[in-house]
Amino acid sequence: MPGSEHVSLDKAPNNGADESSEDGYVQDFGSNPLEVRTTDHYTEEYVTGFVDKWDALIDWKKRYESEGSFFIDQLTSRGVHKVLDVATGTGFHSVRLLEEGFETVSADGSPEMLAKAFANGLEYGGHILRVVNADWRWLNRDVHGEYDAIVCLGNSFTHLFSERDRRKALAEFYAMLKHDGVLILDQRNYDSILDDGFSSKHTYYYAGEDVSAEPEYVDDGLARFRYEFSDGEQYHLNMYPLRKDYVRRLMREVGFQKVETYGDFQQTYADDDPDFYIHVAEKH
Ligand code: SAM
Repeated sequence: MPGSEHVSLDKAPNNGADESSEDGYVQDFGSNPLEVRTTDHYTEEYVTGFVDKWDALIDWKKRYESEGSFFIDQLTSRGVHKVLDVATGTGFHSVRLLEEGFETVSADGSPEMLAKAFANGLEYGGHILRVVNADWRWLNRDVHGEYDAIVCLGNSFTHLFSERDRRKALAEFYAMLKHDGVLILDQRNYDSILDDGFSSKHTYYYAGEDVSAEPEYVDDGLARFRYEFSDGEQYHLNMYPLRKDYVRRLMREVGFQKVETYGDFQQTYADDDPDFYIHVAEKH
């Protein structure tokens, strides 16, 4: 397979046991973190300590500025009114959508995330988020209605570890969209991490240098990232390194008719090497 390198990066994998001693604050990757390659593990990775810290440091205002109006423009140009945010997390995009006047439902598979999102909604503008605890693989069971758009943002789809789960999730998204609906899903640019080797595995800084994210270990089936905070505390996420064209193909195979891919919120990514790709998939 192209790019099937098997690299263990500079620091030894950390199983998270030292990350904090309080309940709900400790990540548990077991004795061999590199073997944790299951979709179901995501709820245990977003422990309260990690989520609280991340949200305290990543300034929402700065995030608004760096993201600009890309998603909002995509939605308004298609006459979207009703949006389902399937990866609500701590609520950043849901709050943004509500502020822009979209009717928004906020789903996530992690109850802790939804609790935080609900509190953030109140804090940032007094919004009452309509939250639903739902796993993408069984979305139609727990979320009802039809939507003009579904957003799955913040490199979330990467948490699905099997092709079966990815197909199931995309099929559930497809089914919840109106006949002319649109799915907007982003992902980290794993192609460059997989193909270009060690040199491309740079550290990504957020909020200045307060948080850094670095791939600690990468092979074709796992990208384990280390998140380090300015006080030295560390957390990890185990993710599946999605190739851009693979995601585009899956989207087409589940029925989306047109898939456009943007790089770092620009359409002209061809000669650059963006950190993120954004897929805009239309149903009709
Ligand atoms: N969109 C938010 C943002 O950009 O800040 C949150 C992104 S966070 C990286 C990924 C979110 O996806 C987490 O809140 C996690 O609980 C959720 N998630 C991951 N896999 C999921 C699944 N199978 N079903 C539902 N939610 C899932």
